[in-house]
Amino acid sequence: MDYEVVIGLEVHVELKTKAKIFCSCSTAFGGEPNSHVCPFCLGLPGALPVLNKKAVELATRAALALGCTVHKTSTFHRKNYFYPDLPAAYQISQYDKPLATGGKITLSNGKTIGITRVHMEAEAGKSLHQGDDILAAEYSLEDFNRSGIGLIEIVSEPDIRSPEEAKEYLEQLKAILQYAEVSDCKMEEGSLRCDANISLRKRGSKELGTKTELKNLNSFRAVERALEYEVQRQSEVLKSGGEVVQETRTWDEARGITSPMRSKEEAEDYRYFPEPDLMPLELEEGWIEEIRSQLPELPRDRALRFQEEYGLNEYDSGLMVSTKEMADFYEATVKLFPEPKEVANWLMVEVQRLLRSSEQEIQESKLLPENLAQLLKLVKDGTISGSVAKTVLEESFATGEEPKKIVEAKGLSQISDEGQLREIVASVVEANPKSVADYKTGKGKALGFLVGQVMKQTRGMANPQLTNKILKEYLEQQ
Ligand SMILES: [Zn+2]
Repeated sequence: MDYEVVIGLEVHVELKTKAKIFCSCSTAFGGEPNSHVCPFCLGLPGALPVLNKKAVELATRAALALGCTVHKTSTFHRKNYFYPDLPAAYQISQYDKPLATGGKITLSNGKTIGITRVHMEAEAGKSLHQGDDILAAEYSLEDFNRSGIGLIEIVSEPDIRSPEEAKEYLEQLKAILQYAEVSDCKMEEGSLRCDANISLRKRGSKELGTKTELKNLNSFRAVERALEYEVQRQSEVLKSGGEVVQETRTWDEARGITSPMRSKEEAEDYRYFPEPDLMPLELEEGWIEEIRSQLPELPRDRALRFQEEYGLNEYDSGLMVSTKEMADFYEATVKLFPEPKEVANWLMVEVQRLLRSSEQEIQESKLLPENLAQLLKLVKDGTISGSVAKTVLEESFATGEEPKKIVEAKGLSQISDEGQLREIVASVVEANPKSVADYKTGKGKALGFLVGQVMKQTRGMANPQLTNKILKEYLEQQ
């Protein structure tokens, strides 16, 4: 039986406001446990919420950046459930009248993934389970610093058809929210979190299969892996004639499996009712339009512009706009060294490698656009070879030093002096009579070997084109 995969994602993003959404406590990450709290975010009786205008502004900006319609009227509801990290025993959220609906994200394959809704809500606190076994902790500590931080929940339509598409959707979503400066989207600090709904259905069928919801997905890679696992598991259940159970499953990163956590709750279980302490949220058309007019160029538009203006292909332009900082770095470098394809190649390969190994983002590294541009100029005018440039880049990346100064200080300039190269070629030829004989009998590899020997003697600093030319001339004369 051939199955089609149906995936929908629910993403929670913390809004980058200084104060929480319904009180004036700080949202700073870290901090002494329970030092950013007040009667309201501790859920004490009688404390009343006051909506933070900045949170509404950022949520609106996010919704507009995602192409949603922002509604002039939306309302807040109480979502009732008990958990130790939720002292009021309800979360203020939005229910049947959310802030915004009907957006979309376009994937690189041209497919669009619908966004059902964007709504605002308040964050819960954080339970710190104590003991070696987190599943059977001896006791838990509660930190309410996070309690009441403003969140948006972004719910996608079930339009995603593979784990890879899910990963790309998340990458694009994150980029859009970062460009719009709505959230820092740090998964490691929990300011972006994702739950995934997944079901299978017979190909061609219109009806949805029974879904499972996956939780505890702590990276985009984890989302992709957990979904891959779940596709496999559900298809085996269905192929053997069984039924998928509707439930919430948790991803075990170390074991690479999902396992049942609890049976899925329905909306009715939460006994939603309108929040009596908050008026409906009324937004003026002019205010919404003002926020729209302040939106920056978003990643998809920027990628299309890079294709048009710099001649990059779809894939390269996608990588160059993956973060706003990378795109800014790219454009600043191209301005100084107007060979857009060359700059993109260096950023995608060598710079990317250094970023990965140092676990940094481009803006955290010491590399500057003017230094990358200077390095590429040195390669272009023949001062250094491409391989030496990689070494120079490493140093400039680590220290912020100018490539010119590194080349001077270490004597890394390429040898382009014909006389000097001729002497080296002569000594190499003399030392390798067998290779010379091989060359004479037409073995092409021998030339490569001899060039390699010249490079070895000059520590890679011989000008390769010139070395080739001189070596060929010399061998012809033998
Ligand atoms: Zn508070």
